[in-house]
Amino acid sequence: MREYCTCLDSTFLTMAPGVTATTTTTVEEAVVRDRKSALPTQISAVARGDAAGKLKLPSYPAFATKEEERTYVKEHMAAAFRWMGKSGYGLEGVAGHISIRDPILRDHFWLNPLAKHFSLMRTSDLVLVDHSGNVSPHGNQAVINAAAFAIHSEIHRARPDVDAACHAHSIHGKAFAALGRELDIITQDSCHFWGDQAVYDSFGGVVLAKEEGERVAAALGNNRLCILQNHGLLTVGKTVDEAAFLFGAADRCCQAQLLADAAAGGRGGETVKIGEEEAKLTHGQLTQGDVLWLEFQPSYELMEYESKGDTQHQTIPNQTAQLQSVMSAKPTSPVEEKLDAFLSHRPAEAELKEKNILKSSTLPPTLQASEADLKRHQLEDKLNEKVLHRPAPEELEKRGILESGEGPGRE
Ligand SMILES: [Zn+2]
Repeated sequence: MREYCTCLDSTFLTMAPGVTATTTTTVEEAVVRDRKSALPTQISAVARGDAAGKLKLPSYPAFATKEEERTYVKEHMAAAFRWMGKSGYGLEGVAGHISIRDPILRDHFWLNPLAKHFSLMRTSDLVLVDHSGNVSPHGNQAVINAAAFAIHSEIHRARPDVDAACHAHSIHGKAFAALGRELDIITQDSCHFWGDQAVYDSFGGVVLAKEEGERVAAALGNNRLCILQNHGLLTVGKTVDEAAFLFGAADRCCQAQLLADAAAGGRGGETVKIGEEEAKLTHGQLTQGDVLWLEFQPSYELMEYESKGDTQHQTIPNQTAQLQSVMSAKPTSPVEEKLDAFLSHRPAEAELKEKNILKSSTLPPTLQASEADLKRHQLEDKLNEKVLHRPAPEELEKRGILESGEGPGRE
């Protein structure tokens, strides 16, 4: 289990009685802390365990090797892209990218190839990029978006506490970004971003320069969300699951606020804001431990289901098709024809004719095969007798059949 640092107050607890996580939180601690909370907790509202406390909430898995973790993060990254595509976040041509720091080469990160539709993304499509922006030979050999490297490399450099970043030009995200302001905390979901958002208010065109990437990273600061004014949204997370979930959460918060502001404006009023204390408490509950990772798992499961398992090994269907093609192919040479006949217990037609077994092609095929099989087995038996049961020279000598010193091989 990866160790995550947490700066959350210990009273921010999301475990329900009877539900434990893979952290050190015990059921007893959970109950005590839960009682301290003035508000019902997010997880306790939706998850309850058994009386013995044996049931555990899913959490970020432990890995035996870094190679296993690399496979895992790539599978989840590809699924995150397909979910982005399904959510309509991949509609702007080549814009939009997710990055995840490589578990083995920590100064490298995985990116999507340029001009690949999010909905079609597989692990084999992902590109590994080094700290200089060069495509590594250890991933897909495809070009990447220059803007993606300019932004994500600076974020990975500035934020060692997060491993993933997600950015796209979603419709509600960029509409809200045109206002040049932070999200109001007007819904429970917007509490994800209480004290955890920033606005980059200097649109400098398509981010291609290192300096622009540095400014975006500086604007992001220690927050999970950066609203890029006149551009779109950018989120970061300890895992790619977190970054992807937060991106969707932020976009839907933008949509909700645009609707709420419009409705409130139409009524000549304002939206109701959540109080600071409640927002802070809820933010702690929603972002504690592996909760943000867990939030994405239903979407990951759906993406796995919809891809029918064809998410990680693109070559499997092709290999199967090739194998089926080989198995069903007609022999192309006399040797292959004989081999094919032997394997299928059917003598080759040419052989049968040669041995005068098959004289006419007017016989029904089933009858031809039956007679041919019988004859073939007789021939094979005789051959076996000759080859396998031939007495050794020593035995022939003993029987007086072969005189000592005579015969082949005796000179
Ligand atoms: Zn962009």
